[in-house]
Amino acid sequence: MSDTETREIILQGIGASPGICVGKAYLVDKEGVNIVRRYVVPDDALQTEKNRFRTAVKKAREELTEIISESSKEFREHANILETHLVLLKDKMLYDKIIENIEQDKINAEWALKKVVSNLQAVFKNMSDPYFRERASDIVHVADRIMRNLTGAGAVNIKGITKRVILVAGDLSPADTSQIQLENIMGFITDRGGITSHTGIIARTLEIPAVLGLEHATHVIRNDDIIVIDGSSGEVIVHPAEETLVKFVKRRLKYEAFRAAILKGSHFPAKTVDGVTVSIMGNIELPEEVVSVRDNGGDGIGLYRTEFQYMSRSVFPDEYELFDKYRDVIEVMSPKPVTIRTLDINGDKAISDRRDADEENPALGLRGIRYCLKNPEVFKTQLRAILRAATFGNVRVMFPMICCFGEISEAKQMLKAAADSLEKEGAKFNREVEVGIMIEVPSAVITADLMAEEADFFSIGTNDLIQYSLAIDRGNKYTSHLYHPLHPAIIRMLKHVSDVAKEKNVKLSMCGEMAGDPFNLPILLALGIDELSMNPQSIPVIKRMIRSLKAEDTRILLKEILRQKTSADIMEVLNNAYGDLVSEVLNGQMAISAARQRAIN
Ligand code: PEP
Ligand code: MG
Repeated sequence: MSDTETREIILQGIGASPGICVGKAYLVDKEGVNIVRRYVVPDDALQTEKNRFRTAVKKAREELTEIISESSKEFREHANILETHLVLLKDKMLYDKIIENIEQDKINAEWALKKVVSNLQAVFKNMSDPYFRERASDIVHVADRIMRNLTGAGAVNIKGITKRVILVAGDLSPADTSQIQLENIMGFITDRGGITSHTGIIARTLEIPAVLGLEHATHVIRNDDIIVIDGSSGEVIVHPAEETLVKFVKRRLKYEAFRAAILKGSHFPAKTVDGVTVSIMGNIELPEEVVSVRDNGGDGIGLYRTEFQYMSRSVFPDEYELFDKYRDVIEVMSPKPVTIRTLDINGDKAISDRRDADEENPALGLRGIRYCLKNPEVFKTQLRAILRAATFGNVRVMFPMICCFGEISEAKQMLKAAADSLEKEGAKFNREVEVGIMIEVPSAVITADLMAEEADFFSIGTNDLIQYSLAIDRGNKYTSHLYHPLHPAIIRMLKHVSDVAKEKNVKLSMCGEMAGDPFNLPILLALGIDELSMNPQSIPVIKRMIRSLKAEDTRILLKEILRQKTSADIMEVLNNAYGDLVSEVLNGQMAISAARQRAIN
């Protein structure tokens, strides 16, 4: 092998799941086939092209059905996504359009597929919501499968990985991931995908280091190359030199020692030096993530985002399916509380049956509780599932996007109606659940005193509160520099909500990403927030930081913070007082990078 072939190469991607590993690359090459355009002239040849395409789709359907039926329990979530792929196979935008293209342009099936898919991808990629931008990848996965069947290229041999490797791929579809023996995977590297991609979610849940969005990794890395990946910094080193290996091994030891040290204390309560205890809870999106909250020492689930069970599929889940999912989470956490947030579907997180999906400004559209109140059957199904699951542990219900007092009353009436219907049927359920609301729009902040009459608890959703208060789209990369949790307006709003909560004796939580950043912690402590809920990996760090703080000192600092005029001034005050402590608890690790990037990307 020549020197150039083994020279060290440094690649920079998105650190999607922290941790460091060194190992051999296993390349999943799906893009080796070169597609060319062919004109197909006689009519019978065109008919043959259409039939080739139909056969390739039929085969893809059979393959997917088989993978779904073989999916283990761990991958039930992904089986749902594969069901969406099954539906996509027949989607008019894809299937009919390709047949139409073959006929009209008189081209081969491969070229028609490539053309239609790249048009569809462009449409999805321009959507503002990162979740939906990444759903463009679902179309690509479906197209890859059809293409493989058309060209006769073999399927990706992912099932057969028998040794411990670092998986390198253009992208990994849920179908691919569900076939991997995950115990053989040391790390993930992909050209595409980001924090909210399926691979990112799975890697974080299973605590496997991952660097995604590298763009050209599959062109640079070859099978069996030695590589190092750092899932915190997003670095990937191909053919590491001796000194590099030593450097990263040291970094890994430091990281492991750091995780071990903070994990040790994370199962004890988070109590300040002067005896103030704060509950530190976890946010989850998939039921599987509950294990990560438990293992990181979470005092409960402060936010279970239930919409993910609706978004990646064509048909809504029924009451029984939802009940099973909720019960799994509740049983794992019991007797600790689980806060189930009702469906926060948003105009652009469109679900396939939406006939009103033409909203020009979905963030201000039929989102969250507005959608649920307009679709009582969907809402009632979810509420019944929650109330039935509530017999298995400690459950709270939380309504998102509350803007007006009337919305809480109406939602609570729906909850009561759901309970009454269960009672009538003689079903086993628990009516005595606490009911809270998200405080995530300015009108809810201003009328918090009114809201307090109907709510057992408030949970401040800073991700949206910042978006709606500062007029900054949380998914817009051009304004992300203006998206600032420490804006004086936000701090004043938090102060107002906390004053009202104390006066009205309403329990106060925060579940936006702001809660998981140790830098903000002195302010949150000073405000007397009872519970902070965050990405599970941040729990140990936040617990550790709380143990080093004195609540009384933070209250004094808050007075100074409230006098500042800009976010930069506030950051400076915080940095002078607590900057060293934050660096110390983070130990140079980007423990919250995923959470922070999710909030600002
Ligand atoms: C929030 O808005 O802060 C929040 C936690 O909800 P989501 O991020 O799901 O909108
Ligand atoms: Mg929100």
